[in-house]
Amino acid sequence: MHAAFWDEPLTYLPGVGPKRAERLADDLGLRTYLDLLHYYPRRYVHKGAAVPIGVLPPDSGPVTVVGELGPYSWVPGRAGKRILKATLHDASGTAELAWFQGAQFVLKKYPPGSQVRVYGKPTFFHNRVQFTHPELELLTDGPDSPAGIEPVYGTTEALGRMGLDSRGLARLTHTLIERGVHLVPEVFGRELLQRIQLLGRAAALAEIHVPTDAERLVEAQRRLKFEELFFFQLLLAQHRRHREAQRQAPPFRVVGDYFNRFYQQCLPFALTEAQKRVLREIRHDVGRPLQMNRLVQGDVGSGKTLVALMTMLLALDNGYQACLMAPTEILAEQHAQNLQRLVLPLGIRVGLLTGSVVGAARKEVLLGLASGSLPLVVGTHALIEDGVQFQRLGLVVVDEQHKFGVLQRSRLWAKTAPHFPHNLMLTATPIPRTLALTAYGEIDVSVIDELPPGRTPIRTLLLRESQRLRLLGELKKGLAAGAQVYVVYPLVTESSASELLAVDTGVEALVRALPGVPIGRVHGQLSSQEKAYEMAQFAKGRTRILVATTVIEVGVDVPSATLMVIENAERFGLSQLHQLRGRVGRGQAASTCILMAGPKAGRAALDRLAVLRDHTDGFVIAQKDLELRGPGDFLGTKQSGLPEFRLADIVHDSDLLVQARTEAFNLIATDPPLALPEHAALADALRAYRRTHPWDALSA
Ligand code: ADP
Ligand code: MG
Repeated sequence: MHAAFWDEPLTYLPGVGPKRAERLADDLGLRTYLDLLHYYPRRYVHKGAAVPIGVLPPDSGPVTVVGELGPYSWVPGRAGKRILKATLHDASGTAELAWFQGAQFVLKKYPPGSQVRVYGKPTFFHNRVQFTHPELELLTDGPDSPAGIEPVYGTTEALGRMGLDSRGLARLTHTLIERGVHLVPEVFGRELLQRIQLLGRAAALAEIHVPTDAERLVEAQRRLKFEELFFFQLLLAQHRRHREAQRQAPPFRVVGDYFNRFYQQCLPFALTEAQKRVLREIRHDVGRPLQMNRLVQGDVGSGKTLVALMTMLLALDNGYQACLMAPTEILAEQHAQNLQRLVLPLGIRVGLLTGSVVGAARKEVLLGLASGSLPLVVGTHALIEDGVQFQRLGLVVVDEQHKFGVLQRSRLWAKTAPHFPHNLMLTATPIPRTLALTAYGEIDVSVIDELPPGRTPIRTLLLRESQRLRLLGELKKGLAAGAQVYVVYPLVTESSASELLAVDTGVEALVRALPGVPIGRVHGQLSSQEKAYEMAQFAKGRTRILVATTVIEVGVDVPSATLMVIENAERFGLSQLHQLRGRVGRGQAASTCILMAGPKAGRAALDRLAVLRDHTDGFVIAQKDLELRGPGDFLGTKQSGLPEFRLADIVHDSDLLVQARTEAFNLIATDPPLALPEHAALADALRAYRRTHPWDALSA
């Protein structure tokens, strides 16, 4: 973009000057002409085009009229008060304006004879049109929008006092548009503009600040949203290429003995079509000498672990070690046991490394990893501690990846320099596609969208406090039928004392209601040995009910558990509830999940819970959750790292996002550095975009 003009400091714009320029920079971060050009209105007030006074229809809503103020007069009103009146006339007729209050301000601000725009609801009195307490603006106050669509800009009180309220900013922007909008070059080729039906760049920028027509304004917004999403995706695409070039990884070229023997002899069931497809995607990735970064999303029980295991066998087949990292010790131990059982016939040893593995056992694992004699290891964070060295780590699997930050993964990466291990992430918290495309530019996403056959869908009930008796009935019925039962409490606060209280109170109530039923409990204050003991007691059926906080959320697998009660369910996010619910329904028997809404749960909370009652597909639930909570909350602060778009909204503009993504990635594939002459304007605009949209995840 004609850099010289757009880089001018705002001081030089008529109507600004040094003082205001300083304020604009301090309060709104606006320094240059370009900054102001991209400072879009927050919203618009649709006042409508001015209507001639003479043709105002009776019974209309608020309208805009434009005319000249006549002389003021005072008229006696009720209770000794005086009413200020004035006439307003245009070419077609005369209206009367009236104020019961605030007369002094009106008199001062709008001298007789000035041209004003009046907005209000007309009333008809003795055939005369009257506006009581209308909104008034001097026509000289700002740009006149022929369509009566007024932009509303975000501003501050301090700026308002300097005359730069919303209208003041509109005035500045108008000046800027008049002077320079013709200097805004198009960044898209004609072919693209036509194919996607986009308004030209300069026209869109002019329209968004000075709207001429409601439909055209929508077109302008669409164009600029696309552009914003496109630029962002361009950066992602470039970043990805760059990263790929740096991240050499060992290609797993052969499908060897381990993989084949496992597939033919050890696999206790047929893979689902979805599992096969995802495995093909993974094999394509790991066959290249570039690091794989693939996230496998699949509902609880969809068989992600198995896919991970088969990928690990590929690593082994190619002479590399593999590790699986789980978010909790319980889960790590469970994985280690399961995997060991599955690969025992192949003569593969699976190591376990958690905080609880100490002394000689730990030494043995560490030695095995360093010497390469231990090919497979499952663990927790303990895997990324400094003392842990691998001989040839080729694959890292991170289970329940949403529980980890990004940082920990990259520490593991550093362990095998100069090569990077391939990276496979598993998650049961589905991330809606548009969010994944935005948050994870360099991660490929696979979806296991099919459950193994023979699963009975989980019946979900939503009960309120007043229906607690029914809950008791379900519990008795379930226990009589041999069910193992989870009762889950939310962490009311971060304090572990109150966590304990909730669990203890729950246990007491159950003991009273169900005398003689053995009850266990797990919560965050138990050591991992104690937790493991309680879990084992429950898994063996020695305790029939397990009262727990969310420590059981991930991965825990007790197939005979077929009834789950979630207390104060409204305190959980939908995706988390879905995840919890996945702890039951893991065997062949029919399972039930009962959501207990607390006494304080309101209409909105109940509606939210009803989504879970009525849906079993994790993606549908995630999409609803996203719509209800917004992207930031959905991803959680830990890893949100979402860019802030000025216009686009990734929840609602998902079609545009997908289009922008495709176009951007195609373009980068043909001209990675955007060096072709026809991309010069684009490269320029991208640099400006980068400056005005700092996004830390790209520099991570
Ligand atoms: P996830 O980690 O996705 O929640 P798991 O990998 O733990 O799921 O699998 C859940 C259960 O389903 C396990 O007991 C696993 O052995 C079993 N399973 C996995 N794939 C299949 C399949 N294709 N057919 C039948 N059962 C399967
Ligand atoms: Mg799992």
